[in-house]
Amino acid sequence: MRRLTALSIDLEDWYHPELVVRAGGVAEPTPRIEQSTGNILSLLRRKSRTATFFVLGEVAERHPELVKRILADGHEIASHGMSHKPLWRHDAQSFAKELGRFENVIHSIVKNVPIRGFRAPTFSLDFSTAWALDVLADNGYVYDSSVFPMKNRLYGVRGAPLGIYRPLTADLRRHDEAGRLIEFPPAVLQVGPARIPVAGGSYFRLLPTRLWLRLLRAVESKRPAMIYVHPWECDPLTPRVPLAAFPRFVTYYGIRKAFTKLEMLLDRFHCARIDEVLGIERD
Ligand SMILES: [Zn+2]
Repeated sequence: MRRLTALSIDLEDWYHPELVVRAGGVAEPTPRIEQSTGNILSLLRRKSRTATFFVLGEVAERHPELVKRILADGHEIASHGMSHKPLWRHDAQSFAKELGRFENVIHSIVKNVPIRGFRAPTFSLDFSTAWALDVLADNGYVYDSSVFPMKNRLYGVRGAPLGIYRPLTADLRRHDEAGRLIEFPPAVLQVGPARIPVAGGSYFRLLPTRLWLRLLRAVESKRPAMIYVHPWECDPLTPRVPLAAFPRFVTYYGIRKAFTKLEMLLDRFHCARIDEVLGIERD
């Protein structure tokens, strides 16, 4: 049987990325999430594929119909937190409160839909915020996809496992048979001593399409791959916020071609919801 590839969409708008926020953010932005996500939903429908949407609570509050559309199309709803505040700026209490608010927002839109997965804004689950795993498990979460298994300027955990595992809270690099949460890290390829990020976001946009697909195939030959994309990075009309050279490059490079790249991915890989890839029973 063909291996399934986990496709995740972080449902946030063009003014949510951390580098935009750090540059001062956007006062009273006009949302584009309905259009940008609408294009992705149509594409997934056309290709008969499903995905997991890590929904930002703020977006769900503002666009409840969008959440209903996502569910009606057979996709999985998971949590990307309430406000896109990274875990670095939370403690266990404030994070638990956010999870509670998120659940209330989603369940006020659609009653009883299970919320099993979490992705921390800006992959902010690292050694300093590993307490979040216990908070997630206490709140009924089954899996997490926030440990980026290499270090870059903004985030990541050097030496974390590349495949699905159960992290030990005291050391995210170690598997704990009794761990309460499944971790499904974004796709990173090991080549000799080097780790090459393939998963998504800026890496998805920066790498030339054929090379990206080849690297993904190499990951997939070893283990199920986790891919992530954002609606704003697949939308050629995403408003560009004035940023310094490096943040501008990682935030906006390759947006023009990203949608076609996503389409090519769906033609070549059997993408599916995370719970399906993990074999988690649906209620
Ligand atoms: Zn995000």
